[in-house]
Amino acid sequence: MPKLIILGSSNAIPDENHENTHMVIVGKKRTVLIDCVSNPILRLQKAGVDFNNLTDLILTHFHPDHVSGVPLLLMNMWLMGRRNPLNIYGLHHTLDCIEGLMGFYAWSEWPDFFPVAFYRLPMQEMTPVLESKEFRIFASPVQHMVPTVGLRLEFIRSKKSLAYSCDTEPCAQVIRLAEGVDVLIHEAAGAFHGHSSAAQAGEAARQAGVGALYLIHYPTGKYASGDLVAEARQRFDGPVNLAEDFMAMEFD
Ligand SMILES: [Zn+2]
Repeated sequence: MPKLIILGSSNAIPDENHENTHMVIVGKKRTVLIDCVSNPILRLQKAGVDFNNLTDLILTHFHPDHVSGVPLLLMNMWLMGRRNPLNIYGLHHTLDCIEGLMGFYAWSEWPDFFPVAFYRLPMQEMTPVLESKEFRIFASPVQHMVPTVGLRLEFIRSKKSLAYSCDTEPCAQVIRLAEGVDVLIHEAAGAFHGHSSAAQAGEAARQAGVGALYLIHYPTGKYASGDLVAEARQRFDGPVNLAEDFMAMEFD
């Protein structure tokens, strides 16, 4: 403890072995889901994480491949009799859209619904999101098609750190967010509007001086092409890996 489990590593089009990109941080007191897609209850069960222990949900941006599981998560928690509050964090745009989406499901009329607290984050670099005895989480806006944050996690006891670029074009904010971290999880969807290639992820890792790079949000199944790790290694000397579903990283 604490550890991070990759729950999905694919870009917007998943395949049998790669769900849309999302992950969970499991601590002693806090379990933090980062984005929420598909069937969250099944995914967490498969990862060995007790669904009832979820305390916090961070939503990076309002694209379906990052938030489509939110209504089902909230409904399943309610049907399972949850009483504990759930904290949800995101930019104003993201949470306004989530509240609008839940409005279509008329969630305000679901009887005995558990308390949900929304924390709206400013578009400001290194905004503190949450702090526990085990870790601190910060958010910085990155460069995507809609307002989006990347995240930085600092583990208190081990002093290890991790950054997650989320969906972004190469930008200075990601370099600053990831500066000197042990692990950078960087997207590698491709070099097009709002995204980065594996080579650009490698370049970000080099500029930020990180310990190791994990590529995520990459094309899978019939859309997979080329050796992404080799591509990133052309720009970054350190260890490079592909993030895979259910991969766990310990930060003790
Ligand atoms: Zn996106």
